[in-house]
This record gives sequence, structure tokens and C-alpha cells, in this order.
Amino acid sequence: MLTKQLAVENLDKLIERVEAARLQVSHHHIVKIIAISKYSLSEEVATLYGAGQRAYGENKVQDLKEKMEKLEELPLEWHFVGRLQKNKINNLIDLNPTLVQSIDSLDLAIEFNKKLAAKNKKINALLQINSAYEESKAGVMPEEAIETYKKIIDTCANINLKGVMSIGAHVADEDIIKKSFETTKKIFDELAPLGAKYCSMGMSGDFELAISCGSNMIRVGSSLFK
Ligand SMILES: *Cc1c(COP(=O)(O)O)cnc(C)c1O
Repeated sequence: MLTKQLAVENLDKLIERVEAARLQVSHHHIVKIIAISKYSLSEEVATLYGAGQRAYGENKVQDLKEKMEKLEELPLEWHFVGRLQKNKINNLIDLNPTLVQSIDSLDLAIEFNKKLAAKNKKINALLQINSAYEESKAGVMPEEAIETYKKIIDTCANINLKGVMSIGAHVADEDIIKKSFETTKKIFDELAPLGAKYCSMGMSGDFELAISCGSNMIRVGSSLFK
């Protein structure tokens, strides 16, 4: 169970490391921290909020719903970062998250858009890119990312695309992880004229590398809630 003291310590340490990494890029490079609470209890989220962390992410719609309901009196920002099954889209729409980071195909976007239109709602989202080319990972292939992004803009009026999300390569070799981040950053830069604002990449084990490659949104779980 996360204590208040540990929450403050974890957050301070994280902010210190993020500060050092972002200043290496530029004084103007701001990085937003999303605390991923998927392995933690609502009480621990409340504790971390008490330490100053406001934005959280979950990877299952049901868990997101439970935590949002339990913590509804706190002014938290909620992100969805997991694989989205089509039969859960309506539930997710009803939760009205701040950002759905894991639109991983044109097919999903079209289905999502249909259900949003039926409810007369809009949502902010990121396109997930499988820049590590890993079969176990979701996301569009880098070669298709620009075209897919444009198609979603053109055909899905109820989805406001705000950028891209990637999970770094799951390997020990830092050069390979770096390459996957650079691939996503290059796509993000190309999409900036189309309104891409967020390049979400970097987790507990690789956020400094991600920031050095241009990430401006990191998703950190285990090192905040340990
Ligand atoms: C779990 C998860 C994270 C956080 O991972 P940690 O290694 O615990 O920091 C980030 N992004 C996604 C999509 C996740 O599922």
C-alpha cells in the first residue's frame, strides 16, 4: 500500500528525473506525466493525488470505470491506454475520458466514430503506432501511420486526433528502443501541421530515453506506485 510519504518521494524523484531529461532537449520542452494506476488501488491514486499528481491512466474500461466512480470527488484527469474491444466502446464513451491514447487501427476508429456519432459526442484521441514492429503490440505500422491518421481526420468527425502514442521496443538493447522512439517522433513531426500535439512515449523503464527522443507525454506506472 502506497503511503503518503512514499508517494511524495516517488513523485519528487520522478519529477527530478523528468526535469533533467527535458532540459537536455530544451527549456521549452514540457513533458506531461500520466500516472498509470492499473496495478494500484483507488486509495493509492487518492494518495498520489495528495502528493500532487492529477492525471491518471488505465488500460481496462472496467477498471477505469471503477476508479473514476470511486474517486469522482477528486478533480482528476483520466486517460485510457489499453487495447479497446469493440464491445466496450460505448462504456468508454460514457466515461468521457480526457484522452483515449490507444486508437490502434482505422477499423477501430471507424467503429468508435459511429458510436460517438450515435451519442452525439466527441472524444480526444491518439493514434497508437507499433514502432517496435512487435507482434505482441497493438498499433498501426509506421509505414501506414500518416495515411491512417489522415483518413481518421477525414472520415471520423467525432474523433479529435491529438497526436500519437507508442510503447518502446521490449528489448534490452537501448539502441533498438531508441530507434522505435525515433520512428514515432518522426511521424509525430510530420503530423504536427495536422494538429498533432502529443507524442506519448516512455514508461518507467525508458522515459528518459523517450524524452531525449522528443516525447512530451510519459506514462509511468510501477516507479510511481512501488
Ligand atoms: C502499464 C502501462 C504503462 C506503465 O508501465 P510501467 O512500466 O509500469 O511504468 C504505460 N503505458 C501502457 C500502455 C501501459 O499499459
